[in-house]
Amino acid sequence: MNEKKSVYTLLDLPYGYSELEPIISEEQLRVHHDKHHRAYINAANSILEKLSGEMREEEKKNAARDLSFNLGGHILHSLFWPTMAPPGKGGEPGELFSSLVKKDFGSFHKFKDIFSQNAISVQGSGWSALSYDPNIGKLLITQIEKHNVNLYPVLPIIMVLDVWEHAYYLDYQNKRGDFIEGFWKIVNWYEIENRLGLLKGV
Ligand code: MN
Repeated sequence: MNEKKSVYTLLDLPYGYSELEPIISEEQLRVHHDKHHRAYINAANSILEKLSGEMREEEKKNAARDLSFNLGGHILHSLFWPTMAPPGKGGEPGELFSSLVKKDFGSFHKFKDIFSQNAISVQGSGWSALSYDPNIGKLLITQIEKHNVNLYPVLPIIMVLDVWEHAYYLDYQNKRGDFIEGFWKIVNWYEIENRLGLLKGV
């Protein structure tokens, strides 16, 4: 029988905990993946369990809001981990990606600048995301506050960077810009090209 699991689960990282060093330390990655990401999963599962029982109207309203937040956290982290690869292992920007970047941003350098600025300017906790809208064939840089605010519904994300303090504080303290600079050295360009290829049907 092929029954689907009815709970969300934490997947292992696609690399070892120390393999993103020196950009992200083992300690930082363990806390982020094992504690923070797991906490969103546990919360989403416990809300789902509560929703299946009796609840007051007010509780239901809060549960729906909390589910959106925690599930958003789970989905975004699940997209984030494979966006990265150990230094030197992520390859170079692929052909599909590069031609879209040239068309939509002029050059890779400009794209990198805009994406970085977008990440730096997230107020409080949030994400910088690169989406591809297959309807207009365009790359779009978006900002996500917390895990769910300003997220365009059903616009597929091909690259995402977590700029919550919990993502970098142990390594970089308040220097978010340094963390973002480091991120470019561990981008998994193979994964990004794959995601784009699936969306473009090539
Ligand atoms: Mn995070």
